[in-house]
Amino acid sequence: MLEQARAELKRVYGYDSFRPGQEAIIQGILEGRDTLAILPTGGGKSVCYQIPSLLLNGTTLVVSPLISLMKDQVDALNRLGIPAAFLNSSLGAVEYREVLRSAFRGDYKLLYVAPERLDAPMFSSLSEQMEIPMIAIDEAHCVSQWGHDFRPSYRQLAGWIGQLANRPLVAGFTATATDEVARDVSAMLGMHDPNIFVSGFARPNLSLSVISGADKKKFLQKFITEREEQSGIIYTATRKEAESVHDQLVRKGIAAGKYHGGLSDEERATTQERFRFDELRVMVATNAFGMGIDKPNVRYVLHWQMPGDVESYYQEAGRAGRDGEESECILLFEPQDVQVQRFLIEQGVGDTERKSIQLSKLNTMMNYSRTHRCLQQFIVDYFGEKNVEPCGKCGNCLDKSELVDRTSEAQKALSCVGRMRGRFGVTMAAKVLKGSRDKRLLEFRLDELTTYGLLSSWPEKEITDWLYWLVAEGYLRMSDGQYPTVSLTTNALPVLEGKETVMQRLRTTVKRRDSGQG
Ligand code: ADP
Ligand code: ZN
Repeated sequence: MLEQARAELKRVYGYDSFRPGQEAIIQGILEGRDTLAILPTGGGKSVCYQIPSLLLNGTTLVVSPLISLMKDQVDALNRLGIPAAFLNSSLGAVEYREVLRSAFRGDYKLLYVAPERLDAPMFSSLSEQMEIPMIAIDEAHCVSQWGHDFRPSYRQLAGWIGQLANRPLVAGFTATATDEVARDVSAMLGMHDPNIFVSGFARPNLSLSVISGADKKKFLQKFITEREEQSGIIYTATRKEAESVHDQLVRKGIAAGKYHGGLSDEERATTQERFRFDELRVMVATNAFGMGIDKPNVRYVLHWQMPGDVESYYQEAGRAGRDGEESECILLFEPQDVQVQRFLIEQGVGDTERKSIQLSKLNTMMNYSRTHRCLQQFIVDYFGEKNVEPCGKCGNCLDKSELVDRTSEAQKALSCVGRMRGRFGVTMAAKVLKGSRDKRLLEFRLDELTTYGLLSSWPEKEITDWLYWLVAEGYLRMSDGQYPTVSLTTNALPVLEGKETVMQRLRTTVKRRDSGQG
């Protein structure tokens, strides 16, 4: 079958070979497996369902929310000689009926349908009249509340598919799905033992780094001066911050532009053009700057503050090095920036569930800022791509600072959290370890825990940092919600049992603490 698929690829599209991900995905589909494919934009998702549709009997139904892309895709398929059509709100009534009639006759190999066109009667008449071997769902993350683009109309699909006498194969495609979203999507779509495939998220030409506790203004001055000829983007969390960083650069005679939602359309368009043609070397911007910029020679993306989630961070940072040349992505991290993001979430739109999802994503972003793992690995792992080798060029991979054994302090902190049974947050755990006389602590009689005061020689702030580090390294977990509680993960057990050691890099910002004289 795969041979045939390859022949079709050559015959129809003129490509000699599949990309590695495509081959595995197509092979799974041809073996009849439900599939969830997560490939970055430009990764070649459409080939993954178009080729199988040519080899399967009947008409593959493609559900896609993007009306404009639908027409482009169908035109392209028709040009390649593949019978395909679409049903969406851009068609007039007459056209619509015509397409439907042809579809019922079985004229198409692929029929694209917008989700809002798919109600229960429509779906059942399509499935009664046509042979449908496969339903391909584009932008499949829209099924999940956890995705950033939830669409209720996608939700109902699963029920309908489940009710069909001849259940077609279900294949979902998306460029953005974390582990959680992937699991949620496959469950929501009622996939049977799906082949979940993730690849292509690593960007080998990017060197990622996180810099904590720097004097940001001095850092920026030096950074920009050392990169005189290079084009770069500086992302800030707020318009106000964008203005002030922009002012700082302009005062030093640097050709910098600014871009944020408070400027007129005209101003933004002009600045973007000037940046594109390298008249402006540096763009200082909020996340309003992004859609549609595809400047190849951006050599660095510097985040003045951390964004609210890893997806946004990687999307913004990933605007560096589109041309494949070596580029840098630097995140300046300050613990108080977490508060800014928390505030933005709390003030933002969305119901409680949405907000708690965002807060949990913020935690992961915080973990990224504190981890000592390879940063590239951390990110691709977050997108569900496992077993990727350390990149060898990120701030953590290049970190030559000494590794110290912190097992004993870890055991103290972990056993304390364990005894608090997941009912309290990091602040309270730190107070218990400190041996604080806090009123609430005493009310809950937490002073009676055997771990009370175990780290009494540390400043409370350092205990808090230590607990957050254990979260970042995956020994502890924070719950979702507005008042996150902290609890042990399964990784904590071998440490508590003395079967595993905990090593930490001794950095200038992390002072060594001696734990007793033992
Ligand atoms: P996505 O939908 O994942 O963003 P597309 O399916 O539009 O990506 O594909 C991105 C580009 O890669 C298209 O121009 C497509 O023709 C091209 N492409 C896809 N598969 C291959 C392949 N096996 N060999 C060469 N080019 C490919
Ligand atoms: Zn690395």
